[in-house]
Amino acid sequence: MCNDIIPFNRPYMTGKELHFISESHHKGQLSGDGRFTSFCHKWLEHTTGSKSALLTNSCTAALEMAALLLEIQPGDEVIMPSYTFVSTANAFVLRGAVPVFVDIRPDTLNIDEKLIEDAITSRTRAIVPVHYAGVACEMDKIMAIACRHGLLVVEDAAQGVMASYKGKVLGSIGDLGAYSFHETKNVISGEGGALLVNREDFVRHAEIIREKGTDRSRFFRGEVDKYTWQSTGSSFLPGELIAAFLWAQLQEADSITQRRLSSWDFYHQLLEPLETEGLLRRPIIPAECQHNAHMYYILLPDHQDRQAVINGLKAQQISTVFHYVPLHSSPAGQRLGRVHGDMAMTDSLSDRIIRLPLWIGISQTQQERVTEVLTSLLKSS
Ligand SMILES: *Cc1c(COP(=O)(O)O)cnc(C)c1O
Repeated sequence: MCNDIIPFNRPYMTGKELHFISESHHKGQLSGDGRFTSFCHKWLEHTTGSKSALLTNSCTAALEMAALLLEIQPGDEVIMPSYTFVSTANAFVLRGAVPVFVDIRPDTLNIDEKLIEDAITSRTRAIVPVHYAGVACEMDKIMAIACRHGLLVVEDAAQGVMASYKGKVLGSIGDLGAYSFHETKNVISGEGGALLVNREDFVRHAEIIREKGTDRSRFFRGEVDKYTWQSTGSSFLPGELIAAFLWAQLQEADSITQRRLSSWDFYHQLLEPLETEGLLRRPIIPAECQHNAHMYYILLPDHQDRQAVINGLKAQQISTVFHYVPLHSSPAGQRLGRVHGDMAMTDSLSDRIIRLPLWIGISQTQQERVTEVLTSLLKSS
Protein backbone atom coordinates (compact mmCIF):
# COMPACT_ATOMS: atom_id res chain seq x y z
CA MET A 1 0.00 0.00 0.00
CA CYS A 2 1.22 3.49 -0.81
CA ASN A 3 1.31 6.18 1.80
CA ASP A 4 0.12 9.69 0.96
CA ILE A 5 2.73 12.35 0.49
CA ILE A 6 3.03 14.53 3.57
CA PRO A 7 4.14 17.95 2.31
CA PHE A 8 6.28 20.21 4.45
CA ASN A 9 3.84 23.10 4.15
CA ARG A 10 0.38 23.67 2.73
CA PRO A 11 -0.88 27.25 2.66
CA TYR A 12 -4.19 27.64 4.50
CA MET A 13 -7.06 29.53 2.89
CA THR A 14 -9.92 30.78 5.04
CA GLY A 15 -12.36 30.68 2.11
CA LYS A 16 -13.11 34.42 2.19
CA GLU A 17 -10.07 35.58 0.20
CA LEU A 18 -11.69 35.55 -3.23
CA HIS A 19 -14.82 37.22 -1.89
CA PHE A 20 -12.85 40.24 -0.69
CA ILE A 21 -10.65 40.27 -3.80
CA SER A 22 -13.72 40.29 -6.05
CA GLU A 23 -15.11 43.19 -4.04
CA SER A 24 -11.95 45.21 -4.81
CA HIS A 25 -12.09 44.09 -8.40
CA HIS A 26 -15.74 45.06 -8.70
CA LYS A 27 -15.10 48.54 -7.28
CA GLY A 28 -11.99 49.01 -9.38
CA GLN A 29 -9.85 49.57 -6.26
CA LEU A 30 -6.50 48.16 -7.20
CA SER A 31 -3.75 50.47 -6.01
CA GLY A 32 -2.69 50.53 -2.38
CA ASP A 33 -4.09 52.20 0.72
CA GLY A 34 -7.74 51.51 -0.09
CA ARG A 35 -10.47 50.09 2.13
CA PHE A 36 -8.91 46.68 2.80
CA THR A 37 -5.50 48.15 3.56
CA SER A 38 -7.18 50.42 6.06
CA PHE A 39 -9.02 47.46 7.67
CA CYS A 40 -5.70 45.61 7.97
CA HIS A 41 -3.97 48.64 9.47
CA LYS A 42 -6.69 49.10 12.08
CA TRP A 43 -6.71 45.41 12.94
CA LEU A 44 -2.93 45.34 13.36
CA GLU A 45 -2.90 48.52 15.45
CA HIS A 46 -5.69 47.18 17.64
CA THR A 47 -4.05 43.76 18.08
CA THR A 48 -0.50 44.96 18.68
CA GLY A 49 -1.10 48.30 20.39
CA SER A 50 1.41 49.77 17.95
CA LYS A 51 1.18 53.53 17.20
CA SER A 52 0.99 52.82 13.50
CA ALA A 53 0.93 49.65 11.39
CA LEU A 54 1.75 49.92 7.71
CA LEU A 55 1.31 47.12 5.19
CA THR A 56 4.35 46.50 3.02
CA ASN A 57 5.17 44.22 0.11
CA SER A 58 7.11 41.88 2.40
CA CYS A 59 8.89 41.67 5.71
CA THR A 60 12.04 42.37 3.71
CA ALA A 61 10.47 45.68 2.59
CA ALA A 62 9.46 46.48 6.19
CA LEU A 63 13.05 45.91 7.34
CA GLU A 64 14.33 48.12 4.51
CA MET A 65 11.90 50.81 5.63
CA ALA A 66 13.21 50.40 9.18
CA ALA A 67 16.79 50.99 8.02
CA LEU A 68 15.70 54.16 6.18
CA LEU A 69 13.68 55.34 9.16
CA LEU A 70 16.63 54.90 11.53
CA GLU A 71 18.74 56.85 9.03
CA ILE A 72 21.37 54.13 9.02
CA GLN A 73 24.59 55.46 7.46
CA PRO A 74 27.54 53.72 5.79
CA GLY A 75 29.80 52.24 8.43
CA ASP A 76 27.10 52.02 11.10
CA GLU A 77 26.96 48.69 12.90
CA VAL A 78 23.84 46.67 13.58
CA ILE A 79 23.92 43.74 16.00
CA MET A 80 21.94 40.63 15.05
CA PRO A 81 22.08 36.84 15.09
CA SER A 82 23.80 35.02 12.24
CA TYR A 83 21.17 32.30 12.46
CA THR A 84 18.45 34.14 10.51
CA PHE A 85 17.03 34.82 7.08
CA VAL A 86 19.16 37.00 4.77
CA SER A 87 16.78 39.97 4.85
CA THR A 88 17.55 40.69 8.50
CA ALA A 89 21.05 41.70 7.41
CA ASN A 90 20.46 42.74 3.81
CA ALA A 91 18.06 45.56 4.70
CA PHE A 92 20.81 47.30 6.68
CA VAL A 93 23.62 46.40 4.30
CA LEU A 94 21.69 48.21 1.56
CA ARG A 95 22.30 51.41 3.58
CA GLY A 96 25.99 50.62 3.93
CA ALA A 97 25.80 49.23 7.45
CA VAL A 98 27.89 46.36 8.78
CA PRO A 99 25.93 43.50 10.36
CA VAL A 100 27.68 42.32 13.51
CA PHE A 101 26.80 38.71 14.22
CA VAL A 102 26.62 37.28 17.73
CA ASP A 103 25.89 33.73 18.79
CA ILE A 104 22.49 32.28 19.71
CA ARG A 105 21.06 30.61 22.82
CA PRO A 106 20.93 26.81 22.84
CA ASP A 107 17.35 26.73 24.18
CA THR A 108 15.41 29.05 21.84
CA LEU A 109 17.97 29.52 19.03
CA ASN A 110 17.43 33.26 19.51
CA ILE A 111 20.20 35.85 19.82
CA ASP A 112 22.03 35.36 23.12
CA GLU A 113 21.27 38.59 24.96
CA LYS A 114 24.25 38.04 27.27
CA LEU A 115 26.63 38.49 24.32
CA ILE A 116 25.17 41.70 22.93
CA GLU A 117 26.75 44.29 25.20
CA ASP A 118 30.25 43.10 24.47
CA ALA A 119 29.67 43.53 20.71
CA ILE A 120 28.74 47.21 21.03
CA THR A 121 31.21 49.76 19.63
CA SER A 122 31.08 53.52 19.05
CA ARG A 123 29.59 52.75 15.61
CA THR A 124 26.72 50.57 16.84
CA ARG A 125 23.31 52.05 16.01
CA ALA A 126 20.79 49.27 16.45
CA ILE A 127 20.02 45.78 17.68
CA VAL A 128 17.84 43.46 15.57
CA PRO A 129 16.47 40.57 17.62
CA VAL A 130 14.84 37.83 15.53
CA HIS A 131 12.02 35.92 17.23
CA TYR A 132 12.85 32.51 15.85
CA ALA A 133 9.88 30.16 15.36
CA GLY A 134 7.63 32.77 16.97
CA VAL A 135 9.35 32.31 20.33
CA ALA A 136 10.35 35.66 21.81
CA CYS A 137 13.89 36.84 22.44
CA GLU A 138 14.70 37.98 25.99
CA MET A 139 13.27 41.42 25.25
CA ASP A 140 13.49 42.97 28.74
CA LYS A 141 17.26 42.49 28.75
CA ILE A 142 17.64 43.60 25.14
CA MET A 143 15.59 46.78 25.68
CA ALA A 144 17.61 47.57 28.82
CA ILE A 145 20.90 47.21 26.90
CA ALA A 146 19.56 49.43 24.09
CA CYS A 147 18.47 52.02 26.62
CA ARG A 148 21.85 52.06 28.41
CA HIS A 149 23.74 52.56 25.14
CA GLY A 150 21.29 54.77 23.25
CA LEU A 151 20.60 52.15 20.57
CA LEU A 152 17.45 51.51 18.57
CA VAL A 153 15.72 48.13 18.47
CA VAL A 154 14.09 46.67 15.35
CA GLU A 155 12.30 43.38 16.01
CA ASP A 156 12.41 40.95 13.11
CA ALA A 157 9.04 39.46 14.01
CA ALA A 158 8.60 37.87 10.57
CA GLN A 159 7.69 34.60 12.28
CA GLY A 160 6.11 36.20 15.34
CA VAL A 161 2.58 37.23 14.31
CA MET A 162 0.16 36.46 17.21
CA ALA A 163 2.97 35.52 19.59
CA SER A 164 3.89 37.44 22.74
CA TYR A 165 6.48 38.00 25.45
CA LYS A 166 5.25 38.64 29.01
CA GLY A 167 1.89 39.49 27.48
CA LYS A 168 3.35 41.99 24.99
CA VAL A 169 2.75 41.25 21.33
CA LEU A 170 5.95 40.58 19.36
CA GLY A 171 6.83 43.45 17.06
CA SER A 172 5.34 45.99 19.47
CA ILE A 173 8.17 46.00 22.02
CA GLY A 174 11.12 47.57 20.15
CA ASP A 175 11.13 50.94 18.37
CA LEU A 176 10.00 49.16 15.21
CA GLY A 177 8.77 45.67 14.36
CA ALA A 178 8.55 43.81 11.05
CA TYR A 179 5.98 41.11 10.18
CA SER A 180 5.87 38.72 7.24
CA PHE A 181 2.74 37.42 5.53
CA HIS A 182 4.70 35.27 3.09
CA GLU A 183 2.96 32.07 2.02
CA THR A 184 5.20 30.03 4.34
CA LYS A 185 4.25 31.97 7.48
CA ASN A 186 1.13 31.58 9.68
CA VAL A 187 -1.07 34.40 8.40
CA ILE A 188 -0.48 34.90 4.69
CA SER A 189 -1.05 36.97 1.58
CA GLY A 190 1.42 35.31 -0.78
CA GLU A 191 4.06 37.98 -0.49
CA GLY A 192 3.36 40.61 2.14
CA GLY A 193 4.43 42.18 5.39
CA ALA A 194 3.93 45.05 7.78
CA LEU A 195 6.00 47.58 9.63
CA LEU A 196 4.92 48.32 13.20
CA VAL A 197 5.93 51.80 14.28
CA ASN A 198 5.99 51.96 18.05
CA ARG A 199 7.19 55.54 18.48
CA GLU A 200 4.96 58.50 17.81
CA ASP A 201 7.90 60.54 16.48
CA PHE A 202 8.53 57.99 13.70
CA VAL A 203 4.96 57.71 12.46
CA ARG A 204 4.89 60.61 9.99
CA HIS A 205 8.30 59.81 8.51
CA ALA A 206 7.39 56.12 8.09
CA GLU A 207 4.36 57.07 5.97
CA ILE A 208 6.55 59.27 3.79
CA ILE A 209 9.21 56.62 3.24
CA ARG A 210 6.53 54.11 2.25
CA GLU A 211 4.90 56.47 -0.28
CA LYS A 212 7.93 57.16 -2.50
CA GLY A 213 9.23 59.84 -0.15
CA THR A 214 6.08 61.95 -0.46
CA ASP A 215 3.37 63.14 1.96
CA ARG A 216 0.68 61.47 -0.13
CA SER A 217 -0.79 59.77 2.96
CA ARG A 218 -1.49 63.19 4.53
CA PHE A 219 -2.92 64.37 1.21
CA PHE A 220 -5.32 61.38 1.18
CA ARG A 221 -6.45 62.33 4.68
CA GLY A 222 -7.06 65.90 3.52
CA GLU A 223 -4.35 67.32 5.78
CA VAL A 224 -2.49 69.04 2.93
CA ASP A 225 -3.80 70.32 -0.41
CA LYS A 226 -1.09 68.72 -2.55
CA TYR A 227 1.61 66.16 -2.03
CA THR A 228 5.29 66.72 -2.66
CA TRP A 229 8.67 65.04 -2.34
CA GLN A 230 9.66 65.19 1.33
CA SER A 231 12.50 62.71 1.83
CA THR A 232 14.18 59.54 0.61
CA GLY A 233 11.67 56.76 0.10
CA SER A 234 10.40 54.09 -2.21
CA SER A 235 7.24 52.19 -3.09
CA PHE A 236 6.79 49.87 -0.16
CA LEU A 237 3.00 49.48 -0.18
CA PRO A 238 1.06 46.50 -1.53
CA GLY A 239 -1.93 46.81 -3.87
CA GLU A 240 -5.49 46.32 -2.62
CA LEU A 241 -5.83 42.78 -3.97
CA ILE A 242 -3.11 41.65 -1.58
CA ALA A 243 -4.69 43.60 1.28
CA ALA A 244 -8.09 42.04 0.47
CA PHE A 245 -6.54 38.57 0.69
CA LEU A 246 -4.79 39.45 3.93
CA TRP A 247 -7.97 40.84 5.46
CA ALA A 248 -9.60 37.41 5.12
CA GLN A 249 -6.63 35.88 6.93
CA LEU A 250 -6.33 38.43 9.72
CA GLN A 251 -9.95 37.91 10.68
CA GLU A 252 -9.10 34.28 11.38
CA ALA A 253 -5.70 34.86 12.93
CA ASP A 254 -6.87 33.55 16.29
CA SER A 255 -8.22 30.26 15.01
CA ILE A 256 -5.23 29.86 12.68
CA THR A 257 -2.95 30.16 15.70
CA GLN A 258 -5.05 27.82 17.86
CA ARG A 259 -5.17 25.14 15.19
CA ARG A 260 -1.42 25.31 14.59
CA LEU A 261 -0.81 25.16 18.33
CA SER A 262 -2.83 22.00 18.67
CA SER A 263 -0.78 20.24 15.96
CA TRP A 264 2.40 21.59 17.54
CA ASP A 265 1.36 20.24 20.95
CA PHE A 266 0.59 16.85 19.42
CA TYR A 267 4.10 16.55 17.94
CA HIS A 268 5.52 17.67 21.27
CA GLN A 269 3.68 14.88 23.04
CA LEU A 270 4.51 12.24 20.41
CA LEU A 271 8.21 13.07 20.43
CA GLU A 272 8.69 13.18 24.19
CA PRO A 273 9.81 9.53 24.45
CA LEU A 274 12.46 10.12 21.76
CA GLU A 275 13.82 13.03 23.74
CA THR A 276 13.85 10.93 26.90
CA GLU A 277 15.90 8.30 25.05
CA GLY A 278 18.36 10.98 23.93
CA LEU A 279 17.54 10.51 20.24
CA LEU A 280 16.59 14.16 19.65
CA ARG A 281 15.85 17.42 21.41
CA ARG A 282 12.47 19.10 21.20
CA PRO A 283 11.87 22.90 21.10
CA ILE A 284 12.06 24.73 24.43
CA ILE A 285 9.53 27.49 25.13
CA PRO A 286 10.48 29.76 28.06
CA ALA A 287 7.65 30.47 30.51
CA GLU A 288 7.44 34.18 29.57
CA CYS A 289 6.86 33.36 25.89
CA GLN A 290 3.52 32.57 24.29
CA HIS A 291 4.50 31.19 20.90
CA ASN A 292 2.38 30.86 17.76
CA ALA A 293 3.37 27.37 16.54
CA HIS A 294 5.07 28.83 13.50
CA MET A 295 7.29 25.79 13.28
CA TYR A 296 8.00 22.43 14.84
CA TYR A 297 11.65 21.50 14.71
CA ILE A 298 13.83 18.82 16.20
CA LEU A 299 17.56 18.91 16.96
CA LEU A 300 19.50 15.75 16.23
CA PRO A 301 22.43 14.58 18.35
CA ASP A 302 25.88 15.54 17.03
CA HIS A 303 26.70 12.17 15.56
CA GLN A 304 23.51 11.80 13.49
CA ASP A 305 23.76 12.29 9.74
CA ARG A 306 21.01 14.85 9.12
CA GLN A 307 20.85 14.39 5.37
CA ALA A 308 20.41 10.64 5.84
CA VAL A 309 17.45 11.29 8.16
CA ILE A 310 15.89 13.77 5.71
CA ASN A 311 16.42 11.30 2.85
CA GLY A 312 14.94 8.48 4.90
CA LEU A 313 11.83 10.56 5.57
CA LYS A 314 11.66 11.53 1.91
CA ALA A 315 11.76 7.87 0.90
CA GLN A 316 8.60 7.45 2.99
CA GLN A 317 6.95 10.44 1.25
CA ILE A 318 7.53 12.80 4.17
CA SER A 319 8.93 16.16 3.24
CA THR A 320 11.14 17.94 5.79
CA VAL A 321 13.59 20.82 5.45
CA PHE A 322 16.40 22.55 7.29
CA HIS A 323 17.66 26.14 7.37
CA TYR A 324 19.57 28.52 7.72
CA VAL A 325 23.08 28.54 6.36
CA PRO A 326 24.35 30.96 9.04
CA LEU A 327 24.93 34.40 7.56
CA HIS A 328 28.48 34.62 8.91
CA SER A 329 29.45 31.59 6.82
CA SER A 330 27.64 32.70 3.66
CA PRO A 331 29.63 34.40 0.86
CA ALA A 332 27.96 37.80 1.32
CA GLY A 333 28.02 37.58 5.09
CA GLN A 334 31.76 37.00 5.07
CA ARG A 335 32.31 39.98 2.79
CA LEU A 336 29.85 42.42 4.32
CA GLY A 337 29.51 41.43 7.95
CA ARG A 338 31.60 40.84 11.01
CA VAL A 339 31.48 38.18 13.68
CA HIS A 340 31.75 39.09 17.33
CA GLY A 341 32.92 36.18 19.47
CA ASP A 342 32.46 32.52 19.08
CA MET A 343 29.73 31.11 16.78
CA ALA A 344 29.76 27.61 18.29
CA MET A 345 26.01 27.43 19.05
CA THR A 346 25.04 28.87 15.66
CA ASP A 347 27.28 26.41 13.82
CA SER A 348 26.21 23.41 15.83
CA LEU A 349 22.45 24.05 16.02
CA SER A 350 22.09 25.04 12.36
CA ASP A 351 23.75 21.73 11.44
CA ARG A 352 21.42 19.62 13.56
CA ILE A 353 17.98 21.09 12.95
CA ILE A 354 15.16 19.49 10.98
CA ARG A 355 11.77 21.17 10.53
CA LEU A 356 8.80 18.79 10.47
CA PRO A 357 5.64 19.18 8.35
CA LEU A 358 3.22 21.52 10.14
CA TRP A 359 0.20 23.10 8.53
CA ILE A 360 -3.47 23.57 9.20
CA GLY A 361 -5.22 20.34 8.34
CA ILE A 362 -2.34 17.93 8.99
CA SER A 363 -4.01 14.94 10.63
CA GLN A 364 -2.95 13.21 13.82
CA THR A 365 -2.49 10.06 11.73
CA GLN A 366 -0.04 11.91 9.51
CA GLN A 367 1.81 13.28 12.52
CA GLU A 368 1.97 9.76 13.99
CA ARG A 369 3.43 8.51 10.71
CA VAL A 370 6.10 11.23 10.76
CA THR A 371 6.96 10.19 14.31
CA GLU A 372 7.07 6.47 13.49
CA VAL A 373 9.35 6.92 10.47
CA LEU A 374 11.56 9.28 12.43
CA THR A 375 11.75 6.83 15.33
CA SER A 376 12.85 3.95 13.13
CA LEU A 377 15.44 6.09 11.36
CA LEU A 378 16.92 7.42 14.59
CA LYS A 379 16.99 4.00 16.25
CA SER A 380 18.61 2.27 13.30
CA SER A 381 21.61 4.60 13.00
C1 LIG B 1 10.38 35.03 6.33
C2 LIG B 1 11.38 35.86 7.02
C3 LIG B 1 11.80 37.11 6.54
C4 LIG B 1 11.40 37.64 5.19
O1 LIG B 1 10.04 37.74 5.02
P1 LIG B 1 9.49 38.15 3.57
O2 LIG B 1 8.07 38.57 3.87
O3 LIG B 1 9.56 36.92 2.72
O4 LIG B 1 10.30 39.27 3.05
C5 LIG B 1 12.67 37.86 7.29
N1 LIG B 1 13.14 37.42 8.48
C6 LIG B 1 12.78 36.22 8.97
C7 LIG B 1 13.31 35.78 10.29
C8 LIG B 1 11.90 35.39 8.26
O5 LIG B 1 11.56 34.19 8.74
